[in-house]
Amino acid sequence: MRVIVLGAGVVGAATAYYLARDGHQITLVDRNAGPAREASFANGGQLSYSYVAPLADAGVWAKLAPWLLSSTSPVRFRPQLDPAQWRWCLQFLAACRSSRSAETSRHLLRLGHASRRLMRALLVQEPALDFAYANTGKLVIHRDAASLAGARRQVDFQSRLTGGDDFRQQVLDSAACVAIEPALARLRRKIVGGVYTPSEDTADCHRFSVGLVDRVRAASAENHCLFDTEIVGLQVARGEIVGVHTSQGPLQGDAYVLASGSDSPRLARPLGVRLPIYPLKGYSLTAPITDPGAAPTLSVTDFQRKLVFARIGGQLRAAGIADIVAHDRAIDQRRMATLVAEARALFPRAVDYRHVEAWAGLRPATPSGRPILGATAYRRLWLNVGHGALGFTLALASGRAVADLIGGQAPFVSLEGLTLPDAGK
Ligand SMILES: Cc1cc2nc3c(=O)[nH]c(=O)nc-3n(C[C@H](O)[C@H](O)[C@H](O)COP(=O)(O)OP(=O)(O)OC[C@H]3O[C@@H](n4cnc5c(N)ncnc54)[C@H](O)[C@@H]3O)c2cc1C
Repeated sequence: MRVIVLGAGVVGAATAYYLARDGHQITLVDRNAGPAREASFANGGQLSYSYVAPLADAGVWAKLAPWLLSSTSPVRFRPQLDPAQWRWCLQFLAACRSSRSAETSRHLLRLGHASRRLMRALLVQEPALDFAYANTGKLVIHRDAASLAGARRQVDFQSRLTGGDDFRQQVLDSAACVAIEPALARLRRKIVGGVYTPSEDTADCHRFSVGLVDRVRAASAENHCLFDTEIVGLQVARGEIVGVHTSQGPLQGDAYVLASGSDSPRLARPLGVRLPIYPLKGYSLTAPITDPGAAPTLSVTDFQRKLVFARIGGQLRAAGIADIVAHDRAIDQRRMATLVAEARALFPRAVDYRHVEAWAGLRPATPSGRPILGATAYRRLWLNVGHGALGFTLALASGRAVADLIGGQAPFVSLEGLTLPDAGK
């Protein structure tokens, strides 16, 4: 089958990879000069298979005031004259219920754990894939007892869902956190404890995506990557997609996968397919580690500050912030300064904070935090969109499942709760 994959972020790259492995003929289209130059470029680098609880949770109601008023809070809302933003925010608030977030966690955990299994298989099948992969384990630190108690409840909930030892999580006190991550020593009195998950990984999402796309190209001379190519729109006739308009001319295939990140709703809207996706703008800093003893070796998440840290090769990556602003990837220097100050407060000697690479990207977020996968009302059009804060983590399972569907098979993992119309809302 000739499959056109629309978008070469990590999600499009993983989908194209599995489709190529299945023997399909792939055309991958992206407006950038290479793969993963947008949200997938310098993200947190966390493969958070077990840490999937969505932002939309009952706890949000107590945090709304600081989100609206504080200029340094990790989440910020700046109202725009954009009905899509208001619609998204109302749907987000409607999803802030314990029952809804528990249901979302259950679906995301299934997909996350499936991704981890696929990652393990991929490391064996593609030993030359070079993307700074490390099975670091993840430590999520908490600064107050109520928050740690909530984390303990989440750990209990997840252990009932998964069972088995593969995804074991441990709740630790502050001394035990410092014992497994000595770079936290000076914070011993500021944190009350943490959750340690040995099965979590870190890696470079950009290099991972580039590696997958290289393998798509290598799989067949019939596979093509059209970079520097704008997708203008999808062409419909008699209830099915019959082509794509691009800046390089029309393209025809037997199947089309929409994997265009935050831009997906704009491409789907003319077809009457409403995708509840809005960009959540985030920031990262990357810098060479100057004092290895002062930088974390585990992947560390500061739960209250919503900040993640990972060693990627010899560099420290810190990422966070979720601004509900607009489709604007420009770096707001004040927000970047907030990230630098927060990172410096945790690991002051790890890097030279005067010389960091600053980056901003748009998480393609649904209100509930669930991606939207699979079929649409249009024959030949498939979705792999809306991965929000977990696109790197979930890309392999999402890509494999969508490739299964296109090949006419049942997906290898259940997509319950992750398809239209239920997903996303
Ligand atoms: C600060 C930050 C930290 C993050 N940390 C993590 C993390 O630690 N772990 C994790 O799992 N996830 C993380 N994420 C989320 C993750 O980065 C995203 O979920 C993921 O990158 C989304 O991938 P995607 O392929 O859907 O979108 P993108 O990477 O944005 O890819 C979409 C592609 O479509 C192309 N495209 C769109 N429209 C068009 C058009 N009209 N014509 C041509 N091309 C088009 C774009 O050029 C782009 O390459 C983070 C995100 C941010 C912003």
